[in-house]
Amino acid sequence: CGIVGYIGTNDAKEILLQGLEKLEYRGYDSAGIAVLNDNGVTVFKEKGRIATLRENVNEDVEATIGIGHTRWATHGEPSKLNAHPHQDETERFTIVHNGVIENYEQLKKQYLQGVTLKSETDTEVIVQLITAFVNEGLNVEEAFRKTLSELHGSYAIALLDKEDSEVIFVAKNKSPLLVGLGKNFNVVASDAMAMLKVTDQFIELMDKEIVIVSKNAVELKNLDGENVERKPFTAEIDA
Ligand code: GLU
Repeated sequence: CGIVGYIGTNDAKEILLQGLEKLEYRGYDSAGIAVLNDNGVTVFKEKGRIATLRENVNEDVEATIGIGHTRWATHGEPSKLNAHPHQDETERFTIVHNGVIENYEQLKKQYLQGVTLKSETDTEVIVQLITAFVNEGLNVEEAFRKTLSELHGSYAIALLDKEDSEVIFVAKNKSPLLVGLGKNFNVVASDAMAMLKVTDQFIELMDKEIVIVSKNAVELKNLDGENVERKPFTAEIDA
């Protein structure tokens, strides 16, 4: 299982699909991508092989920002419905997640009374929580940080906001996640392997950090919103 993300100037679909193919060795039961353009977010997801996903991705949907996921089901059977990306009720936010949210039932009871969940995953609770906190008046970054501070368990997350095509929000706790640096683009991946074709410069995330990834910048913060500095490293593996 793994996650990928791309923001830049090229078409995101192919970079995401190739990234997911590089992560196939980790094992998975379903896969999906979401891309964002002027028409909004388009989600493609399928149970089974990435080849099947690839066949079902509409070539005509062009976008320069997107996220992708291979799923190893822990909560909810392997199915198209439970495959990631997942969206909140309003479909403003779109998320991919690796890991397990141990307290998702409790969070659902505490914050999401009246919200109808579409999937059986623990992951959907994360994206619904972000919306709930935005509805309470927080900005997206604050809502993301507040959501993360409520989660118990492991996660590598990438998040798209339909209303802001300039950023991908990412975070991690006890699951691997790297941000890859390019010229006029940046990427996200569970494993450098996934993105070696486009860059060998990566920044490693520490637990409970977030990164606001845009085309020309990456901004690391802790869950209190304080800036964090970290130098990139060069991945020395053959693509
Ligand atoms: N717990 C999530 C799910 O079952 C993510 C699993 C994964 O790491 O792929 O959908």
